[in-house]
Amino acid sequence: MRLRTFESFWLLKNGLMYSYPSLKENEACDIVVIGGGITGALISDALLENGYDVIVLDKRDIGQGSTSATTSMLQYEIDVSMHKLSEMIGEKGAALCYGAGIDAINELEALIKDRKIKCGFERKKSIYFAHNVKAVNDLKKEFALRNKHLQGVTWMEKDALWDKYGLVSEGGIVSEAAASMDAYAFTHELIRQNVKKGLRVYDQTTIKTVDHSRKGVQVTTEEGAVIKAKKVVYCSGFETTEILKENIAKLFYTYATVGERNVENTQKLKDVLLWNTEDPYLYLRTTDDGRLLLGGEDTSSHIPFFEQKRKEKKSNALQKKLKAILPHIDFVEDFSWGGTFGSTSDGLPYIGVSPEYKNALFVLGFGGNGITFSVQGRQIILDILQKKKSPLAKFYRFGR
Ligand SMILES: Cc1cc2nc3c(=O)[nH]c(=O)nc-3n(C[C@H](O)[C@H](O)[C@H](O)COP(=O)(O)OP(=O)(O)OC[C@H]3O[C@@H](n4cnc5c(N)ncnc54)[C@H](O)[C@@H]3O)c2cc1C
Repeated sequence: MRLRTFESFWLLKNGLMYSYPSLKENEACDIVVIGGGITGALISDALLENGYDVIVLDKRDIGQGSTSATTSMLQYEIDVSMHKLSEMIGEKGAALCYGAGIDAINELEALIKDRKIKCGFERKKSIYFAHNVKAVNDLKKEFALRNKHLQGVTWMEKDALWDKYGLVSEGGIVSEAAASMDAYAFTHELIRQNVKKGLRVYDQTTIKTVDHSRKGVQVTTEEGAVIKAKKVVYCSGFETTEILKENIAKLFYTYATVGERNVENTQKLKDVLLWNTEDPYLYLRTTDDGRLLLGGEDTSSHIPFFEQKRKEKKSNALQKKLKAILPHIDFVEDFSWGGTFGSTSDGLPYIGVSPEYKNALFVLGFGGNGITFSVQGRQIILDILQKKKSPLAKFYRFGR
């Protein structure tokens, strides 16, 4: 599966920050983490912190999957509105899942500060704005429900949006809890630090088989090396759908484009993430080096091998939409790219055990806020391993 086109901004900006040996000899550990993206970095960190002996395996280099394509908007907001989610899992459950996103942003910020990770993390507000007049009624209902359950949520009228941000919209929900970062740099730095603490990492290591026996797991690589472990945690991103019979997510492609640095021009938007009610939605934010980064234009068809034309078309469409909502912004494209994206019917991730595989746990943070779901996976995985109850686990379980 192609997880992204070649020109991901983060990869060009940071380069291949660190690389690791491939697995050549047999090893043993408590837990094998498959996948060295942001999820694998976060989960292996939590496991290591809690005394487990951990090996991370990746068939690519670290962070080369979706993690290098993400726009890294850190949102508590789920792609399915709190209103719709309430109809699916009840109001209490929906409030719990939305609230967990706020906690995840706080947890991630604390981790970044504690480890002194340089990854452009910036606290921001998030504005979920109406893309047309018709959308306002539903958005106001959504606001009322969020306001009932969550702190730091306000409604902003059309004029205020224009005056403060130069944004053309009939109104929107402003949330205090949001942030942005460079997920690729974060992933590399966190893994690098943990390697110094004993984490074993093997990249460019292709797995041939994973034998899920009653007693544990045995991972065999294409080269014939074997790892014996008690458990495996699949942090293998969207490709994990290929090994599951359960149809957990719909995959499609989403596009992103980043402009040239223009600190003055993007000043008004420095402290906000913006996304709208359109389907698929348009989303944008600034980077810590003064660029505007926008994404959307999702399509269900596969990335053709020769992708340039489509990428250009999508980038032009995004820029046209940008001009309509932020007419004062001068956007000059610098890089554009596309990547695989997955969405579940309730917008929630799949985190936990699947009846399809013994001794295996999964952290599949699908959706527009995949990263905050991956953060939540840390505690859920620890709770499962330590046989503790997790209030979120039932909402994120397989077979739901
Ligand atoms: C354009 C775009 C914009 C996005 N914007 C946002 C956003 O603003 N906010 C947000 O929260 N999320 C966003 N996402 C989603 C976000 O990128 C993902 O949620 C996140 O990167 C998932 O990280 P991961 O570590 O689970 O997956 P990945 O980064 O894909 O890592 C999985 C790793 O597993 C490895 N792997 C897979 N199978 C195997 C195997 N069999 N053996 C060995 N290794 C294997 C892969 O090589 C890969 O490195 C966006 C995604 C895209 C494409």
